[in-house]
Amino acid sequence: MAMTVEHPSELLDVALAEAVAGRGEGGVPIGAALFHRDGRLLSAGRNGSVQHGDFLAHAETTAVRAAGELDDYRDVVLVTSMTPCWYCAGLVRFLGIGTVVVGDTRTWSDESLDWLEAAGVTIVRLDDERCHRLFADWLATEPAAWALPGSVDGWAGSS
Ligand SMILES: [Zn+2]
Repeated sequence: MAMTVEHPSELLDVALAEAVAGRGEGGVPIGAALFHRDGRLLSAGRNGSVQHGDFLAHAETTAVRAAGELDDYRDVVLVTSMTPCWYCAGLVRFLGIGTVVVGDTRTWSDESLDWLEAAGVTIVRLDDERCHRLFADWLATEPAAWALPGSVDGWAGSS
């Protein structure tokens, strides 16, 4: 019960650990975790596109699936090491997840966060240097693993 949404960087540690584990597996280092507002950890997950050959196994969707189906998502906090893509942002809207905490808000366009905020989702932007550096360092060495369709919009560069 030590971790609550009032201390979002502690929640982020869980997502970051997933991202680090993903990198250790040769995967895309993006991690996520689901908490209840009271601080209970519900699940965690990491991007599995390389490990499972599933290009839709994003960190957020993996974590949401791992928690199982919940009755109500308003008091659920989705923590992710990097700004969610539109697919994952859509999942937040689909389920009615109440809060999203984001580590690296620089690498990916935060347009999805504006969209979620406008819909009433509470957004916590941590601009966490550890998350940003983990992804940037990985991208510098594994650029081929980050092969998005050319039609995908939102890449903010590797700065
Ligand atoms: Zn995604």
